[in-house]
Amino acid sequence: MNSITEIRDAIKSGETTAMQIADRCFSAISNEPFNAFHECWKDEEPNSATGLLSGITVAIKDNIVTKTGTTTCGSKMLEGYRSPFNATVIDRLLESGATLVGKTNCDEFAMGSSTEHCAWGAVQNPWNRECVPGGSSGGSAAAVAAGLCNVALGSDTGGSIRQPAALCGIVGYKPTYGLVSRYGLVAFASSLDQIGVFSRSVRDAAITTEVIAGFDPKDATSVEKNAPNLEETLDGSIEDVKIGVPLDFLNDRNDPEVNQAVKNAINVYEKLGATIVDVSLPLTDVGISTYYVIAPAEASSNLARYDGIRYGHRTSKTGLDLFDLYAHSRAEGFGDEVKRRIMLGTYVLSSGYYDAYYNNALKIRRLISEEYAAAFEQCDVILGPTTPTPAFKIGAKSDPVSMYLCDVYTANTNIAGICGISIPCGFTNESDKPLPIGMHLQGPAFSDAKLLQIAHAFEQATDFHTQHPESHV
Ligand code: GLN
Repeated sequence: MNSITEIRDAIKSGETTAMQIADRCFSAISNEPFNAFHECWKDEEPNSATGLLSGITVAIKDNIVTKTGTTTCGSKMLEGYRSPFNATVIDRLLESGATLVGKTNCDEFAMGSSTEHCAWGAVQNPWNRECVPGGSSGGSAAAVAAGLCNVALGSDTGGSIRQPAALCGIVGYKPTYGLVSRYGLVAFASSLDQIGVFSRSVRDAAITTEVIAGFDPKDATSVEKNAPNLEETLDGSIEDVKIGVPLDFLNDRNDPEVNQAVKNAINVYEKLGATIVDVSLPLTDVGISTYYVIAPAEASSNLARYDGIRYGHRTSKTGLDLFDLYAHSRAEGFGDEVKRRIMLGTYVLSSGYYDAYYNNALKIRRLISEEYAAAFEQCDVILGPTTPTPAFKIGAKSDPVSMYLCDVYTANTNIAGICGISIPCGFTNESDKPLPIGMHLQGPAFSDAKLLQIAHAFEQATDFHTQHPESHV
């Protein structure tokens, strides 16, 4: 699978056409064994627009609405749902000439870290099909890792782009909150949700984000800024850059191979001339508990619309009064993890517990933002592992809390609304089926160009991003 710039050049020189690229991609998707895709759009009219992404094949997480095909959020609740409008990011991709290839499987309503909780079956990791690809955007991550398309969109509420990117050995970028429109992203936790990009290089993530970013009057939290120039600044030197490393991020709760890969990455940055500084983020440990109050609270409110009347699956039982119609429709349509979140959310928002849980979580949210602000006075970006472990076996985490802990390093990025990216930084030692390891960089709000520049510098100095599962199977 070539980079966006290579494809651009090949189309310009007449070596290939958008149609040929699309055909190759559709035949790969039709034969894919990973269950990455819920729908493949090979019979759609080709996109006649031309622009920055002409001929680039893009897969879309199944919680971003599209007029083409269905949008199910991996849930029986929305089986067969057809949106009458496109999300803003979809319109922008189409205007830029991209070929949209289909919808990718995800955890139901983006709740999960493994893409096992999808009504259409678990997704497999292309590096080792017994393992999960991470989640909740696991289908998008697996699609890019397996070379089924050039780039893919995902959504990240607590780590759902960066964590699967790490587990699949690709780039996963969550832009600053407000930089990319959420209009048409099916809401999970609106104050945390952000659309972002999966790709095989930082440059491809930069180019795609330039296309989808920028002010959108249809999203009340979209910032009134033009799309930033992310590609132009990628090649800048990082000699004057300060990289903060929280010492407690390399602890013995992580897999030792993850710690080693991150330590090696720190050495690479030192060789590139960056200065490494110690920073302290002690509130990382309360991030998950804070997240699991705020996110379910918002989810319980956002998911109230799926009642079998306004939206979603309606029970076929007859003779029910209104309450029972709601109750049966919701009980049949939602899976267990979604029900668990709704119960948690309504509990923390209930009159007797609101102050003890929800209000306290909001106070901690403020403290987390202040802690980041203090750290960013000493450094440009914060470096650490994206996840405590590489990909785990399908079925290995049946206890919900152990699944929640996958996001220990990523959830606070969303809580503070800042930007973060995961890039490949190593592999485990299994000789036959090595698993990728990801490194996480976080930057202050709207420092996205600098974040990508620092990530790109690492990529240029290493070859982890050039290794793909097909060369190992
Ligand atoms: N894994 C987290 C959760 O289950 C994050 C999900 C996400 O970012 N969408 O809520």
